[in-house]
Amino acid sequence: MDHPKKERTFVIIKPDGIQRTLIGEIIRRYERIGLKLVALKMAVPDEKTVVKHYTVDPDWIRKVGEKSIISYQNKGLVAPFKDPEECGRAVLGRLKKYLTTGPVIAMVWQGNKAVGIIRKLTGGTEPLTSDVGTIRGDLTIDSYDMSDLDDRAIRNLIHASGSVEEAEKEIEIWFKKDEIFNYNLVLEKMLYDVNIDGIME
Ligand code: ADP
Repeated sequence: MDHPKKERTFVIIKPDGIQRTLIGEIIRRYERIGLKLVALKMAVPDEKTVVKHYTVDPDWIRKVGEKSIISYQNKGLVAPFKDPEECGRAVLGRLKKYLTTGPVIAMVWQGNKAVGIIRKLTGGTEPLTSDVGTIRGDLTIDSYDMSDLDDRAIRNLIHASGSVEEAEKEIEIWFKKDEIFNYNLVLEKMLYDVNIDGIME
């Protein structure tokens, strides 16, 4: 097994994140917690890549539909879709439009529990209910009902992998092996070294 400090996750700053000029703010939040940026590129994705990316998990269509319907139920509202699969397919169509509208930034971040740490800092899918202190909760205001009304994807600034397995597959879609860098960061000594020594002169 690889050492936990080697865990990697995949992140996209979506077109709204670029247009809101939040690249620096988003990277700052991932960087300052102690994660290491090991790959980064700007690209305008095509629809094929978007579909490949979101169908890495074959159950994603159903799950995204269920999550959306439950969010309406939690607010005491009736969801516009009854069938999770139908809802999920609509979401994928909306995502194709959203993510191909302009440049995105794709990144790979590395560190102990990188997948979970990045999901925690990013916050829940719907900015309306994302926790305060998270990127989505602090920096934007979209909601399921508004995006459904306007038949578009929820603009929530970021994609972040849901599991280590998903991250590995997503990284393969977006990056070639030689675009990912293995290097040491000085700060890793404080985070991971068994002994903290060499501080005192
Ligand atoms: P997350 O990005 O939080 O992992 P999902 O994988 O469930 O969330 O959904 C992928 C993306 O699809 C979300 O980030 C959001 O942009 C969009 N999305 C999800 N559900 C809906 C919905 N019901 N209507 C519009 N867009 C949605």
